Amino acid sequence: MLLTISTTHQPATDLGYLLHKHPNRCQSFSLPFGEAHVFYPEASNEQCTAALLLDINPVKLVRKRTLTLDAYVNDRPYVASSFFSVAISQVFGTALGGRCKDKPELVETAIPLIAKISVLSSRKGEDFLRELFEPLGYQVSLQNYPLDETFPEWGESKYFTVELENTLPLSLLLSHLYVLIPVLDNNKHYWVNEEEIDKLLRHGEGWLKEHPLKEEITKRYLKRQYRLTRAALAQLTEPNETDPDSAQENHDKEEAAVEKPLSLNQQRLNCVVAALKQHNARKIVDLGCGQGNLLKILLKDNYFEKITGVDVSYRSLEITKERLDRLHLPRHQWEKLQLIQGSLTYKDNRISGYDAAAVVEVIEHLDLYRLNAFERVLFEFARPQKVIVTTPNIEYNVNFENLPAGKLRHKDHRFEWTREEFQNWAKQVGENFSYSVEFQNIGDEDLEVGSPTQMAVFSVNS
Ligand code: SAH
Repeated sequence: MLLTISTTHQPATDLGYLLHKHPNRCQSFSLPFGEAHVFYPEASNEQCTAALLLDINPVKLVRKRTLTLDAYVNDRPYVASSFFSVAISQVFGTALGGRCKDKPELVETAIPLIAKISVLSSRKGEDFLRELFEPLGYQVSLQNYPLDETFPEWGESKYFTVELENTLPLSLLLSHLYVLIPVLDNNKHYWVNEEEIDKLLRHGEGWLKEHPLKEEITKRYLKRQYRLTRAALAQLTEPNETDPDSAQENHDKEEAAVEKPLSLNQQRLNCVVAALKQHNARKIVDLGCGQGNLLKILLKDNYFEKITGVDVSYRSLEITKERLDRLHLPRHQWEKLQLIQGSLTYKDNRISGYDAAAVVEVIEHLDLYRLNAFERVLFEFARPQKVIVTTPNIEYNVNFENLPAGKLRHKDHRFEWTREEFQNWAKQVGENFSYSVEFQNIGDEDLEVGSPTQMAVFSVNS
């Protein structure tokens, strides 16, 4: 079985630093069940590919087992399975752990990566493979193989060559593979115990909690051992500090305190509402609606016919509901509203069918490597006529007296962009998904550093 990892990040040979394996050498490692070889089929400045070839030794495999026919005749030597995860952790352990002595800054950097695995076995077929990897932001290409080429009527086998493309830190890609390859495989080659829970939680950190198939992944990873699965799931659902609910509780207060002297929030909402009307958008989905600041305005305005608020934070939605309840709105206005708990990085049919999506001060809360998942969810799948995105302009931060230099406006912000960065991103999105884009500044404009908030209005190309 073979795994290749390619990048076009430049210089592409940085992949060698990240994997701790020199691109000019072929190295072999002896493992309890066979040999692993690492080599680079290509290594130039523009493109670099590392290959991990696992050569399972069938004799080593059967040595300790009762000798039934299936001990000799099985797919183990050819299918990426739990053996492969062991190989990844032994051969690429430093990279998997997110360490890089020579270029530490690369570890956290999202870089374009393509992983190709020959072959994965998926008894539940193509859909299951997609459901595992697509929510993590991967573009998935699959090649299925017939059961027997000489008997096409027998149909397709459960084996696939899988290509996964994404922009993310390498350690995260390896963690995804480490967990999900054995999830696809029904035969874990070793006994599972409590230690496996630790491995699952360690390598699932930062993504498993939010994965829509979290329960299925946990169950399969732990070989359907009920007690272990329950213990792992309890830890995966435990509330913690980074819970978006608690993070959001203070969000409005903190950010408003920084921006207050300009009452920027009100100006921002006014601009968004004006843009919605200017573009004849009456059915609106407010993505990352928070505690309902925009929803409140839209709900009271009879111009708008249907309003849906989406947020990942259940607590925020509860607060929104309480705040809107207090308005005692007439029934016809109240009935326009719908609140949905959901994450913007997972494809969701419930956000389709709207004239416009408002994404107000939300993108900076998404990890950079999740942005392309968000882009696809919104611009490719939901595909509203208009999309309005606002985000802070980091250049303006020097004008906030109560914000220490170099700090972002809120501690949950993963990034804040300059005008150029935002415009480059928005233009690229427009190009990728066939939308045109216009920009607007919101708030007092400073000649040198621009205005505090930047807004992009995307219109679908007809
Ligand atoms: N649009 C609101 C809130 C902005 S704060 C306003 O202008 O007042 C950012 C909001 O995005 C928070 O409510 C947070 O819970 C939400 N959020 C962050 N990540 C999200 C995700 N992946 N999916 C959905 N909502 C998310």
